[in-house]
Amino acid sequence: MFLFAQGPPRALLGWRCEGVLWLMPEASVLIVESDPDRVEADLAAGSVSCPSCEGVLRRWGFARWRTLRGRDRSVAVRPRRARCRSCRSTHVLLPDVLLVRRVDTAEVIGAALAYAATSGAGHRRVAQRVGRPSSTVRDWLARFRDVALRAAAHFAAWANHFDPMVAPILPAGSPFADAVEAVGVAARAASLRLGSRPVWSWASVLTVGALLSNTNSNWLAS
Ligand SMILES: [Zn+2]
Repeated sequence: MFLFAQGPPRALLGWRCEGVLWLMPEASVLIVESDPDRVEADLAAGSVSCPSCEGVLRRWGFARWRTLRGRDRSVAVRPRRARCRSCRSTHVLLPDVLLVRRVDTAEVIGAALAYAATSGAGHRRVAQRVGRPSSTVRDWLARFRDVALRAAAHFAAWANHFDPMVAPILPAGSPFADAVEAVGVAARAASLRLGSRPVWSWASVLTVGALLSNTNSNWLAS
């Protein structure tokens, strides 16, 4: 089951089929589900579409192993590489547990953002809460604050895309908190429409892993 789109705002019009696949054409990255067996099965079945041309992606080796810092343990992942049978471009299929160029999992980063939003705590208290260095957490919070207004609009648009009847997202007190709220609403709507995933996995999927990236943030375009 894959979802295909071209990144906002075109993404909002870009469904090709139901399911879960996301792309950022310039970076040749796709966010897929976190279960490697499912990814293998989908590739074997030819159900993963090329982000460049919609051709069929086939297995094409692996990207390097990387170790992520999960909530209470390390998570080792070795993303699949895939190659398009039609245009021969290659792509990296990243599991939705991660954000691009972040060592901590999306779950951990999301927990920090959510706690900051609901508590109003500064980066030191948030860092204590999630057990990460305060300098790291300060960077997450600052980056998210930078993109908060656009992120709120982005995720609200996705929520509406998945569920046109979704209730309006209520103001949460700050642009930062509004953006976290919008992530939650979009994730719930996406899980209902396409199958359950954790909230911050959806945040990765819907930003092609670039929720906190300084570069390749074309999900924020427009
Ligand atoms: Zn292709």
